[in-house]
Amino acid sequence: MGTPESLTFLGAVGTVTGSKTLVTVGDRRILVDAGMFQGEKQWRRRNWDPFPVPPAELSDVVLTHAHMDHCGFLPALVRGGFSGPVWCTEGTKQLATIVLRDAGFLAEREAQDAAEGGWSRHDPPLPIYTAEDVERSLPLLTEVRYDADADLGDGLGLRFTRAGHILGSASVTLTTPSTSVLFSGDLGRHDHPVLRPRDTPSGAAYVLVESTYGDREHPEPVNLPHEDLADVIRRTVARDGSVLVPAFAIDRTEVVLRVLAQLRQDGRIPTVPIYVNSPMASAALEVYRRAYDELRPDLDLDDFARLDNVHEVRSAEESMALTQGRHRAPHIVVTSSGMASGGRVLHHLERMLPDPRNSVVLTGFQGAGTRGRALLEGATQLKFHGAYVPVRAEIVHDREFSVHADASDLLDWLRDLRPAPRTVFVVHGEPDSAQALAARIHGELGLVAAVPAYGEKVVLTAAPPPADPREANRGGIPERGASRPVATAAAVSAGTSGAATLVFLGVQEPRDGSGRAVAGSFEAQAAAVLDRIGSLAQATGGDLTSLVRLGAYLRDGEGYAVRLAIWHRLIAARLGDAAPALTVSPVSHEELPTGVEVLADAVVRPRAWTAISIG
Ligand SMILES: [Zn+2]
Repeated sequence: MGTPESLTFLGAVGTVTGSKTLVTVGDRRILVDAGMFQGEKQWRRRNWDPFPVPPAELSDVVLTHAHMDHCGFLPALVRGGFSGPVWCTEGTKQLATIVLRDAGFLAEREAQDAAEGGWSRHDPPLPIYTAEDVERSLPLLTEVRYDADADLGDGLGLRFTRAGHILGSASVTLTTPSTSVLFSGDLGRHDHPVLRPRDTPSGAAYVLVESTYGDREHPEPVNLPHEDLADVIRRTVARDGSVLVPAFAIDRTEVVLRVLAQLRQDGRIPTVPIYVNSPMASAALEVYRRAYDELRPDLDLDDFARLDNVHEVRSAEESMALTQGRHRAPHIVVTSSGMASGGRVLHHLERMLPDPRNSVVLTGFQGAGTRGRALLEGATQLKFHGAYVPVRAEIVHDREFSVHADASDLLDWLRDLRPAPRTVFVVHGEPDSAQALAARIHGELGLVAAVPAYGEKVVLTAAPPPADPREANRGGIPERGASRPVATAAAVSAGTSGAATLVFLGVQEPRDGSGRAVAGSFEAQAAAVLDRIGSLAQATGGDLTSLVRLGAYLRDGEGYAVRLAIWHRLIAARLGDAAPALTVSPVSHEELPTGVEVLADAVVRPRAWTAISIG
């Protein structure tokens, strides 16, 4: 059968940028995401390395979304000879067109500036690609609808699932003749201020999950939403300063405008002029305004797209007037890029940072090596266009703006996948973040989780997946067509931990031929378990309430709430209390106290339990 199917990690490992994964199946070479490395020089240099596969040998490119670190390298591949289809959603096609044209223009201009300034390693300085390379790339963009199966030929299939990160963003499931691979792409939070929320894709044998915030949880706002932002705007305007909000042109600008509109409407900030100084942001705003299918059903377009006193700065002259003219009355500027790595924001920073009346509000993840990260870490001077300027303006970080899922969101996404992945590859994170997430995936979900290295290759095999460790109590799943008429009695064991007696129990339900639980069987099982606890309690001279903790392995997802309600009702009946308070918390297998034997009938021990405490 020739060379085995494989994955090769060519970017977004050890960093959040440069997303590129090569899937090799027979003669096909499919590159999932074609992202540009950004930030630290050691990574940016890789954009110039010879590509590990001659681009002409790539058969397809798949894009998860239109951020530069996922699509920005495409014209370089086309420049190198790639000419196959580039599969993406309609929203990604529209936004990638804007993003890539801007990138082509900037690349040419930077090379020209470098030639004039004499600071390039290349002589003469070369752009990584040209506007012409971009124009040759755009016709390759090929739309695929969300949730539709696209046939790529040679037994390959592709499906996009809504990812809720930016407009058009998707997770991608690639099916090959022998297996399946799911790429999370960048995942949004549960709730996006402007877009429809993400959907759950079906599971795959191999899953790549992003880990931008793999070691962090987003804070819930302590008081009013975005109060830090409202507060700094009020302070700054009061001292006659202006506020600069570096924001990614795509998506973040829309979200920032929506929040500013809300703050104004609620009277929490004064109405001062707002300038959107980014041609790319203005173009993206147009795409968002027209993308009804992608927007939240409860969104009023006026909330972010048609604000009073918002000026979209289009021409370079207008932009220069704003950054070089006389000091203006207080205003707010929203401009890109979001990490201050390039674009018009540089001119604004150069002008605004030295004046202590001004403020800069950072609105999202700031990659290592960017000016945004330097400001966050308290830099006292920053270099622009070859010269240093002092940082005297107030710097604020509004973390509520993130549109990346936090660690718990990422675990939730994995937990919902059916069937369970055989291997999870943790990518798109700085090293600590990726390791932290991998540890949680292993510890809390019981899955194999690896953090791949740059250039690492993994062979994909067709072996059937092992039993889902997240559903270990289904260890005795009947073969198809067979039925298991009688449930295994629940296993109960007791041990002591200090004065408290602990009882952990597992319930196995009989299942019908298609693997579905037999109706009513769970309740009968749970009742039997409680009877056994009751006799155990009598034998140890206690009662049910003295067994302070019950641990029951409850499968999450569908049916979880129903099962919990059944436990609740049965316990209430035995306690003679209509509504005993139950609290529920996850417990990993390792956290079970020593001395407690789990006598579950299941072949595989559950790794994750839900502890139900009475009282
Ligand atoms: Zn992204």
